Amino acid sequence: MGLALYDTRERRLRPFVPLVEGQAGIYLCGPTVQAGPHVGHLRSAVAFDVLRRWLLASGYAVTFVRNVTDIDDKILASAAAEGLPWFAVAAANTRAFSTAYDALQVLPPTVEPRATGHLPEMIALIGRLISAGHAYSTGGDVYFEVRSLPGYGALSGQSPAAMAPTEPQNGSAKRDPLDFALWKGAKPGEPAWETPWGPGRPGWHLECSAMATRYLGAEFDIHTGGLDLIFPHHENEAAQSAGAGDPFARYWLHNGMLDTAGEKMSKSVGNSLAVADVLESVRPQTLRYYLGAPHYRSSLDYSLDGLAEAEAAYGRIETFVRNALDALGGIGEAEALALEGETAGAKAAEEAFAAALDDDLAVPRALAAVHGAIRAGNVALTGDGAGLAGWLAAVRRMLTVLALDPVQWPAAGGADGRLRGVVDALVKVALRARADARERRDYAAADGIRDALAAAGVVVEDTPQGGRWHLS
Ligand SMILES: [Zn+2]
Repeated sequence: MGLALYDTRERRLRPFVPLVEGQAGIYLCGPTVQAGPHVGHLRSAVAFDVLRRWLLASGYAVTFVRNVTDIDDKILASAAAEGLPWFAVAAANTRAFSTAYDALQVLPPTVEPRATGHLPEMIALIGRLISAGHAYSTGGDVYFEVRSLPGYGALSGQSPAAMAPTEPQNGSAKRDPLDFALWKGAKPGEPAWETPWGPGRPGWHLECSAMATRYLGAEFDIHTGGLDLIFPHHENEAAQSAGAGDPFARYWLHNGMLDTAGEKMSKSVGNSLAVADVLESVRPQTLRYYLGAPHYRSSLDYSLDGLAEAEAAYGRIETFVRNALDALGGIGEAEALALEGETAGAKAAEEAFAAALDDDLAVPRALAAVHGAIRAGNVALTGDGAGLAGWLAAVRRMLTVLALDPVQWPAAGGADGRLRGVVDALVKVALRARADARERRDYAAADGIRDALAAAGVVVEDTPQGGRWHLS
């Protein structure tokens, strides 16, 4: 079978055939950093992190490029409003984005190019477009001549005859209202770079063509981004590269939007969908599950109910992994036991998981395979334990692809993940002391130990196999 992906340009599922066998080059349109990240930004990041992780798990060497647009009208407006230099606003917000990506365990890009670091590449691309007769300079600006390029509109499925202008005219000397800016002539007080056509700054669409080509080559595998970028941004990127004679992206993938309108209007959540604020009340692994669980192409209505469902579903995953590790004696012991033999059921679950992800990253079906394996693992846990290590190993391998293996996340309460083992050992010392106290009928001492643990937030469950604990 192999991986098939839904290509926006061809509007169909296509088998993924890489340009170079065993390698995949991916470009993701990153943020314009006029403000910090909100939850909508993370939808795209998580969706294409799953794509990248699945390609890695399938044996590809992946080059993943995600840019930062660090010069733009909106950044200049934020800087003026905050009374700060434009580059200070861009740098602070770039750091806030990195923090948010890290919090959700989105793998760092192979390279994270900034627009202002790639002016030579952009100026060279403008030169090629002018020579090819697809761009012209006028009044200090340079424009792409939309009607000069046959096939403009193919990506978004429109014809130029039916299009409305995407940029204000601003009294510019554009030949045609549909033409878009490659280069914006300097205005007084704005940052500017020198070019053969006069000082100014780059247009947004230009930078992605220049940076994608710089790091992935004139032709590369997959261009990704949100559905809202298809037109005009991606249409214009495709036009610039086609105009310069570059084959550019072979597949175009777009994620559905996170619709925040409902929660924005709801007074109970306040107005902030800033990631830093959302993570005050939602665990990062829960937010990752919530954003990543639906199919990447479907739209998602942001809601507190949806977050609560994600917390419950992820809690079932955590409970199984924790109980299975307790029963098997720890991570090392569980992994050693799993090597002794795989059960047919666990293997079938992993095959269903792989088939789902190969089918245009069908995460809902992949998660159904995970939850099915957890149900089977729970049956083993309450029974004689046969096959438990195999179920646990399969569940953890599948969850690793989705960056949802609980072992890889900080323990509940925000403690560092490695501390879980330390706390576990300390709680076991206390539980042994409690058992000893009960044996010598010193119930006051036994109850005192239980109360001290409860006061520390440790809830003890007595099971036939001994005491088990979790955080309250
Ligand atoms: Zn872009």
